[in-house]
Amino acid sequence: MMIKTTGLIIREYLTGENDRIVAILTPNGLVRAFAKGSRKLSNSNLGATQLLCFSSFDLSKSKDTYTVCSAKAIEIFFELRNNITKLALAQYFCEAVKYFSDEDDDCSEVLRLTLNCLKFLCTDKFKEPLIKAIFELRLTCIAGYTPDLSCCVGCGNEDGRFFFSPIDGGIYCNNCAPVRYIEMPSAVLLAARHICYSPFDRIFSFKLEDKHIPSLTKMSEKFFVTQADHKFGTLEFYNSLQEKI
Ligand SMILES: [Zn+2]
Repeated sequence: MMIKTTGLIIREYLTGENDRIVAILTPNGLVRAFAKGSRKLSNSNLGATQLLCFSSFDLSKSKDTYTVCSAKAIEIFFELRNNITKLALAQYFCEAVKYFSDEDDDCSEVLRLTLNCLKFLCTDKFKEPLIKAIFELRLTCIAGYTPDLSCCVGCGNEDGRFFFSPIDGGIYCNNCAPVRYIEMPSAVLLAARHICYSPFDRIFSFKLEDKHIPSLTKMSEKFFVTQADHKFGTLEFYNSLQEKI
């Protein structure tokens, strides 16, 4: 059976002398495919089957095995390869989406989110930590763990100081917060609501002052990692680079 699809290469495993197994995030699920001879320089599929390449594919499927017959690059996000922190962040995105995606899942929104974040990562329109926060928050929502950021989950209070609980996925007011979770200044709360609740094509249409970015980043990372209940090696690597800068 032949399948035509587009997809983003989110993982590559080297195998044999010149072969690769690639994990492709397609709109219709995560596909693992054998890319025979794809590491040979003469192979026409070489570029299009590399990590972080968004390509169109002709795949053949027999039983449960997919093989890449041909691949054509659509977008290669080449800029990421020249910047170690951007590349590390992109690899974290890949590990995160892989963790939440499976074969036969509807991955169209996850794919769209990831492609958008990679595109913005290639420009300087948004600061890296902000793109990371947008990615983490929205991916957590897509995965089914949308936080409740409307009012205090304890008493319904809509005003005053708020603290976010990554475990409960909600905000508490000053009176109800059992411990001082992550403080959410109102600008940060508004930004988080925007990222979680706005229609997809509006996600990137907001501004947040630089001084507020660390609060949003702390909240989104803690929330994402807590809800995923998983340790992401690529995240630890990205954060270790931040400490060195
Ligand atoms: Zn309260």
